[in-house]
Amino acid sequence: MHEGRVSAELGLAGWPAVAEESIIARDVLLAGHVGSRLHVCHLSTAGSVEIIRWAKARGIDVTAEATPHHLLLTDEKARTYSPLYKVNPPLRTAADVEAVRQALADGTIDVVGTDHAPHPRESKDCEWQAGAFGMTGLETALPIIIATMVEPGRMTWRDVARVLSETPARIGRLSDQGRPLAVGESANLTVVDPDVRRVVDPDSQWTRSTNTPYAGMELPGQVRATFLHGRPTVLAGRPIEQTEQKEHA
Ligand SMILES: [Zn+2]
Repeated sequence: MHEGRVSAELGLAGWPAVAEESIIARDVLLAGHVGSRLHVCHLSTAGSVEIIRWAKARGIDVTAEATPHHLLLTDEKARTYSPLYKVNPPLRTAADVEAVRQALADGTIDVVGTDHAPHPRESKDCEWQAGAFGMTGLETALPIIIATMVEPGRMTWRDVARVLSETPARIGRLSDQGRPLAVGESANLTVVDPDVRRVVDPDSQWTRSTNTPYAGMELPGQVRATFLHGRPTVLAGRPIEQTEQKEHA
């Protein structure tokens, strides 16, 4: 877990923020030195945000990503001693969460990546030290971005498309994805109902794993349909099986 007041109180071994920040600082400097591009995954601390901001201001070709859980959850969750909240990098402080939200809003952080990490029950139904790192995040990513960024007025829906689709496609050099809606474009679409509010139930998610840290939380928004290259992959909020996909084609 994150090294700080909570880890000291709990007696759990902590990982300090500087462990993450010193690596990002090193890599940013090296990328600047050799003129290569650098993409930083799962940035989680206020200090990391400052380093990325500094690097971009200097013209270093760096992009950064944060996860939904680092936009919402803090190290206070470790007080449960449940490995559901054990993840790498660890959940940080409320000040770090605020810095990550701010950076996503102002473009210092370019994209959100789910860091979806499904695990079998036995990997999480154990003591903290033995628990596996990671949490599921795919089905809750959009609801968390709506709750933390859109509803408080920090990002528009246009920004959501930018951080979840357009910029990830650009960074990954996926030339046929993350493109605007237009005649003749490949139909890669997500249809969202923003008004639905649902309580997260680990047993009714589509993933077979139950290691969601959001169980019991009411979150806004639901993906109703997705299309990849013109073919439906989710319809009426339900994933389409491969065989059904052929029928639709
Ligand atoms: Zn990861």
